Amino acid sequence: MADRYLHLTGTAPGRFLTRRLGLPQPAPLRRWTLETPRLEGPLLHLTAGASAVTGVAEVLSRSGLPVVGDTDRPAAIILDATGVTTAAGLGDVHAALHPVVRSLAPGGRIVVLGTVPSPDDHHQAAAQQALEGFVRSLGKETGRGSTVQLVRIPVGGAAQAAESTLRFLLSPRSAYVSGQVIELTTATATPGPAADPAAPLTGRTALVTGAARGIGAAVASVLARDGARVITLDVPGAREELERTADRLGATALPLDITAPDAAGRIAAAVPDGLGVLVHNAGITRDRRLANMPADRWTSVIEVNLDSVLRTTDELLKAGVITRGGRIVATASIAGIAGNTGQTNYAASKAGIIGLVRSLGPRAAADHGVTVNAVAPGFIETKMTAAVPLFIREAGRRMNSLSQGGLPVDVAEAVAWFAQPDSTAVNGQVLRVCGQSLLGA
Ligand code: NAD
Repeated sequence: MADRYLHLTGTAPGRFLTRRLGLPQPAPLRRWTLETPRLEGPLLHLTAGASAVTGVAEVLSRSGLPVVGDTDRPAAIILDATGVTTAAGLGDVHAALHPVVRSLAPGGRIVVLGTVPSPDDHHQAAAQQALEGFVRSLGKETGRGSTVQLVRIPVGGAAQAAESTLRFLLSPRSAYVSGQVIELTTATATPGPAADPAAPLTGRTALVTGAARGIGAAVASVLARDGARVITLDVPGAREELERTADRLGATALPLDITAPDAAGRIAAAVPDGLGVLVHNAGITRDRRLANMPADRWTSVIEVNLDSVLRTTDELLKAGVITRGGRIVATASIAGIAGNTGQTNYAASKAGIIGLVRSLGPRAAADHGVTVNAVAPGFIETKMTAAVPLFIREAGRRMNSLSQGGLPVDVAEAVAWFAQPDSTAVNGQVLRVCGQSLLGA
């Protein structure tokens, strides 16, 4: 569905008119393409006080951007605030960013590195938690398609754990992600970057549910781009669309209702060599206010969006179908964080996904060497959101720091980041892909 307002503000008269009326000014986002795989310009590396992690400079040197200590037009800024442990130390954050924030190029990136707030040191915890409020506010201030995030590295850890995360955040792939806090774990075995950086998922099989169209089709496409052998799964009723999508991507189509009792067994049979990446994307809405909601609308949403995810995940993990180093990525929603009128069933199912990911992540890593994460999309331009009434749709599109809806590919790029072979330290996380939506912030 075309965002006509975004086109209007892209013209000189449209920009003039909407500025005079004080209306939102969405900047066209620069997304990844083969021709523009990187941000254009230098990466400014700043430190607030002394760094508390090792290897930051080394990791940044592999980011693909020229790293500088001084520039008047950075494409991205990294502020290492891992050593900030007191309220007074926060002054170093201000001192580092205040002089340069205005010079950030349009579509730029700011990433603050922090550490995990300590349960044993309330001064350190206060200072590190303060960075979250700082980042979320700066994300609302920067404008012009720029984004701001906080990445927490475990105390005393090495920056190497953050390599895949920084690669994602400092690239056009994270165009619609802002105001996020990513907390890395101390992964025991972090495999190095893939042999072929252009096709990091080479040799892995990825299965995406609900992949006939919309976000699922985009996820399948991006995973195929990254070298994975892809299996696209969707309901038998969508077989034609599913096969068209699979043909376009050189993928294999698996027509299957994910709620079928034998779904896990059928998936296992389709991947004799095991599954490297499992993406639970299939989802439905059956909106009604609770007072008007019959039990079948409740049950069907919980069944597709949550119960089938729990069941197939359990069975595939138990049977060892998901290989060591494997990745499970589920799909939540900002409705599961903020709640939404008419969506008690949907929001419950999506909040349930967040519970699943946070609980299973650490155990799946310990028992199976598998990470479990979720994306929580905000307003994404798909058939699902095209069906939303006009005024609610316009509000959904504009009520975020980037003043526009995201595209399916934005969610897909986040899924691909979770799926990277060197994303082992990214576990139990829920990444909102919502342009820093005001809902549930
Ligand atoms: P969509 O309706 O365009 O696509 C969903 C796909 O899932 C469809 O192809 C459908 O046939 C399939 N599906 C439904 N039930 C299934 C089942 N039982 N077995 C197998 N496949 C099934 O939706 P979308 O907008 O692309 O959403 C994809 C996911 O993202 C969903 O989980 C949705 O809840 C979530 N999400 C979307 C948005 C958004 O703005 N579009 C926002 C937040 C979350």
